Amino acid sequence: MYIYNSASRKKEEFIPHTEGKVSMYTCGPTVYHYAHIGNLRSYIMEDVLEKYLRFSGYDVKRVMNITDVGHLTSDGDTGDDKMLKGARREHKTVMEIAKFYTDAFFEDCKALNIKMPDVVEPATHCIDEFIRVISSLLEKGYAYEAGGNIYFDTSKLDKYYIFNDFSEEDLEVGVRDGVEADTNKKNKADFVLWFTKSKFDDQELKWESPWGLGYPGWHIECSCISMKHLGEYLDIHCGGIDNQFPHHTNEIAQSEAFLGHPWCRYWFHIHHLNTDSGKMSKSSGEFLTVSLLKEKGYDPLVYRFFCLQSHYRKNLVFTYENLDNAAGAYQKLVSKVAQILDGKGREYDKAKYDELIKGFTNALDSDINTAQAITSIYDVLKSDADNATKYKLTEDIDSVLSIGLIQAAEKAAVSKESAQADIPDEINELVKQRADARKAKDFAKADEIRAKITEMGWIVEETRQGTVIRKA
Ligand code: AMP
Ligand code: ZN
Repeated sequence: MYIYNSASRKKEEFIPHTEGKVSMYTCGPTVYHYAHIGNLRSYIMEDVLEKYLRFSGYDVKRVMNITDVGHLTSDGDTGDDKMLKGARREHKTVMEIAKFYTDAFFEDCKALNIKMPDVVEPATHCIDEFIRVISSLLEKGYAYEAGGNIYFDTSKLDKYYIFNDFSEEDLEVGVRDGVEADTNKKNKADFVLWFTKSKFDDQELKWESPWGLGYPGWHIECSCISMKHLGEYLDIHCGGIDNQFPHHTNEIAQSEAFLGHPWCRYWFHIHHLNTDSGKMSKSSGEFLTVSLLKEKGYDPLVYRFFCLQSHYRKNLVFTYENLDNAAGAYQKLVSKVAQILDGKGREYDKAKYDELIKGFTNALDSDINTAQAITSIYDVLKSDADNATKYKLTEDIDSVLSIGLIQAAEKAAVSKESAQADIPDEINELVKQRADARKAKDFAKADEIRAKITEMGWIVEETRQGTVIRKA
């Protein structure tokens, strides 16, 4: 299996540190708000990677943190504390916000068939761990105290910039208007390990430390949580491309300074989901969440299918039109799968299976090419294999891609039977008008028409198999 390693900027053969075992770490969400579907694109692609490693026979242990303290709005050491901002917005405590949005995140994951990691660890549970590692960095001379905070000294490293070719001067650009540069730092790239002298006087969560009452920086959290559960050698570290710098760069700096040897072998970065007007955001434009897609009648697994149609190392543009196209393609694929359901549980042709599964494994072995993996399902379905073999292949491929093909096909078969009921012409007409309104993105009108249909005793639903009309 080959994957692209952002640290070497090359596709490399995947060879784990310990034969047959894979340690995998994922930067979890900052739980101050719902995840947007861009965040979830990253988790979908990481889920495919994890499931494919398991499919290939590896014993995988995957760890994810929950960032419930220390993440500032700038990703560096400036800006507001994201959790505090969320708590103020909702007049709740930071811990209430963290609990609510952690649960919401895993609900979204469930709807998108994203497997729960083996270990999920909130940063606030690991304070002793952070203090231990920071103390060791101070002892080894990699960290210093200034103005009450503890900083990592990047000048102590031979190579700090791993993923890009930044220089000290480039960082000047990073200091935005209205944000004061931190004069405590010896070097511009230095970053906070522990905040004691906080500009957030009302910071709710603070802990005793050898350096006074304070709280950890965001970067140290991931290094420590990974080492706590996965040891000194990490095989794969995942995250969105925006995390390369400064977050992952700082994680490498701290972890390797602490351990005294190389830490993580492969860096797997997912490129962004953008809107047609640019970067996806929680604060401007339409806040695109899984719940919003559901409200608009889209199946979350259609969104997963949409993500898989593109390579994870390419930016992906989200528009409703693109999603509608994916929904159409998904529906067609499901109807093809519906034709092979009679192959379930029957004896299949092993030789044919081995021949056809190669289309799928070659695709994912080649840097997780999910679009090609989807094509391999079409190839299976139009091959000369019998239905038992086609069924087994579809089932196995979908155990990795997790787009719910068999379940959707079974449901389609049932709803086809129940769709025999006579639908009055005026209901059909309203359904058509609603479809036109949705096409024109007039969702308010579409909702209005749907309400009218309901009033008349009928229910119209968007399912993976298309629009279904039934008696209320
Ligand atoms: P956060 O909750 O902000 O810590 O982000 C959670 C994950 O989503 C991180 O791995 C980010 O790198 C990733 N991410 C943020 N924005 C996007 C986006 N527009 N598309 C894909 N991934 C993203
Ligand atoms: Zn992280």
